[in-house]
Amino acid sequence: MKIAIIGAGLAGLSAAAALQRAGHDIVLFDKARGPGGRMSTRRVETAQDMAFFDHGAQYFTARDADFAAEVARWEAAGTAARWPAAGDDAWVGTPGMNGIIKALAAGHDVRWNCRIETIARDGTLWQLAHADGVETADAVIVAVPAEQVGDLVAAHQAEWAGLAQATRSQPCWTVMAAFDARVEFAADSLRNCGAIGWAARNSAKPGRSGPESWVVQGSPDWSAEHLEDDGDAVIARLLAELAEAVGEGLPGILAVQAHRWRYAMSGAAGKTALWDGSLRLGLCGDWLIGPRIENAWVSGRALAGLADPDRTGA
Ligand SMILES: Cc1cc2nc3c(=O)[nH]c(=O)nc-3n(C[C@H](O)[C@H](O)[C@H](O)COP(=O)(O)OP(=O)(O)OC[C@H]3O[C@@H](n4cnc5c(N)ncnc54)[C@H](O)[C@@H]3O)c2cc1C
Repeated sequence: MKIAIIGAGLAGLSAAAALQRAGHDIVLFDKARGPGGRMSTRRVETAQDMAFFDHGAQYFTARDADFAAEVARWEAAGTAARWPAAGDDAWVGTPGMNGIIKALAAGHDVRWNCRIETIARDGTLWQLAHADGVETADAVIVAVPAEQVGDLVAAHQAEWAGLAQATRSQPCWTVMAAFDARVEFAADSLRNCGAIGWAARNSAKPGRSGPESWVVQGSPDWSAEHLEDDGDAVIARLLAELAEAVGEGLPGILAVQAHRWRYAMSGAAGKTALWDGSLRLGLCGDWLIGPRIENAWVSGRALAGLADPDRTGA
């Protein structure tokens, strides 16, 4: 089959790898300019050096046996490393969280900067419409956040669209700050301090370079309450909270930015992956299981097993 996958985050790439190994012809489409999805890493130029921020997912665990084996392969390839500061079972991508997605995407035909607007049936084939034309495929896999599923599948699978609509994500305001000196705080991360849900010294993660860099995330409740606030106001508030939490004045700021994730941590639909064999249409993504990197990979792999149980071995 020629299989089109909408969304080249970890779930889409996990499905792509298993289906490509099974001999299918895979093409992925992603609306973003480059690899990452919610495992993105942002580069910011500063007066000292380039600063790097994992501004989406911070770290991950590997409790599923198949995923643990996959992570061991990433470690061997130099795209993942343990980060004990977040826990004994915590891993991060190297040299940034998006290093994993970059490496996985390199093995596939991925069309970046290409948002799929609609999918339509044409006899037994699918037609995927984007700004520059139409792509044809035998099967379609939708690997996007729950809130973006309905527009693509509602006309074909109303039940799935309803499930996705009922599975709401939590937002997350994220502040990225690079400093001209070390933030004097003994630990490299902290959780649940006032408006802050999580803050981490990003530059202390393994394999990172550049100046002292922190990622500060608003808690889910605070982020929801302040979702429409101005980015500058969010920066002021979360940095003030960081200063209070570390108990010292913060060093001079080299660069600071805010990012509003409307759909950060997904809900959980109580499924693993969905496949409709008569339509040759599938769904995968973290939201089917719950909001974790590990779940995105497990969901993609499970979908490959549903789409081609004989050859993926999933
Ligand atoms: C702020 C934040 C903090 C997090 N912290 C953690 C953490 O510490 N640990 C953890 O395990 N998880 C964490 N997560 C969750 C984790 O990032 C996700 O579970 C995982 O990355 C989801 O992967 P995915 O492939 O399902 O979705 P995504 O990574 O969102 O990939 C979906 C892709 O689909 C693309 N797309 C969407 N619509 C279209 C379209 N119409 N056409 C083409 N492309 C489209 C998007 O551009 C995106 O690249 C966090 C997430 C965020 C945002």
